[in-house]
Amino acid sequence: MSKPKIYLSSPHMGTKEFDYVKEAFDTNWISPVGPHITAFEKELAQYNSISHCAALSSGTAAIHLALIILGVQQNDEVICSSFTFSGTCNPIAYQKAIPVFIDSEPETWNMDPVLLEQAIEDRIKKTGKAPKAIIVVHLYGMPAKIVEIMAIARKFNIPVIEDAAEALGSTVNGRKLGTFGDLGVYSFNGNKIITTSGGGALVSENEAWIAKARFLATQARDPAPHYQHSEIGFNYRLSNICAGIGRGQLQVLDERIKARRANFSQYQNYLSDYKGFSFAKEPIGYFSNRWLSTIIIDPKHSKCDRETLRLALDSENIEARPLWKPMHQQPVFGCYPNYQNGVSDRLFDQGLCLPSGSNLTHVEMTSIVDLIKQQVS
Ligand SMILES: *Cc1c(COP(=O)(O)O)cnc(C)c1O
Repeated sequence: MSKPKIYLSSPHMGTKEFDYVKEAFDTNWISPVGPHITAFEKELAQYNSISHCAALSSGTAAIHLALIILGVQQNDEVICSSFTFSGTCNPIAYQKAIPVFIDSEPETWNMDPVLLEQAIEDRIKKTGKAPKAIIVVHLYGMPAKIVEIMAIARKFNIPVIEDAAEALGSTVNGRKLGTFGDLGVYSFNGNKIITTSGGGALVSENEAWIAKARFLATQARDPAPHYQHSEIGFNYRLSNICAGIGRGQLQVLDERIKARRANFSQYQNYLSDYKGFSFAKEPIGYFSNRWLSTIIIDPKHSKCDRETLRLALDSENIEARPLWKPMHQQPVFGCYPNYQNGVSDRLFDQGLCLPSGSNLTHVEMTSIVDLIKQQVS
């Protein structure tokens, strides 16, 4: 008989979520309209200290609407982190625009500002114009060098979409991620730090943009008693039921961050003395929600490599996963322009995401760490 599975990152409900869902049932607000949606938007905006928020059906939908709001069209170039999940860049393809992938710097593993500036200059030289937008990702909760990236974007007057799908609650100098860019994106998919089962949000200081996002997300209905449309719309709104779950989850978000950070500290304490193992440190002023705990295994200095470790965990029914495969290595995105420095290729080869749920027990943590130690001693 196999052991009960330990998941990478599973949903972790608090105590209020079900009350909010029951309230939606009791009042019959079972649709993508309703009081929980409005309240969730307000509470999420408050948490992040930003003025405006639209609750949407997914983080991917939020990125798609952000691109439309910024006027990204066919054949426009959009700069994007290469080291990310495909949800970041699929919407560029939805717009028939061209992604231009930028590699990572080794400290935070996110978009390299030096490479970004070189790439913008090169695109201007090659195409005669600046890229239309930049999508910068904060992977695994670790903040990108967002202050440096914003300065470069301002210098070239290119708007920035911040993909904070994995980084809700992370900060740089006390300011929440998702609020540095012109538009910020969050995800509440089942594996994220908090979940609405599926959902996302778009935030901005620009009220008109967020109003536009709500309009586009509800099939772009013109103000008329009948159904009239002057633009192509989408069915991208969050449901009132899911927003109820989100309201409950927001109340425990800071606890979830604490638990995820404690997981990371434990892995680091137990494993960092082993040769060839390393962990990403927070630069000064950076605070990561440590959505996923990740370890780098340098096979030249360790008794094992990433894949043998992953398989050893898998044989004990413990879910671990390689880091994201860079977009410039993906069959579907490999044909697009990219600016590489080898950092994300190495991270993909050597990096492993370890079980990181805020509901991970001490017993589970101990069994994972013991198994890893066995592989290297
Ligand atoms: C999860 C995720 C998305 C997409 O969010 P969904 O809500 O799943 O559509 C986008 N970018 C990153 C980096 C993500 O991790």
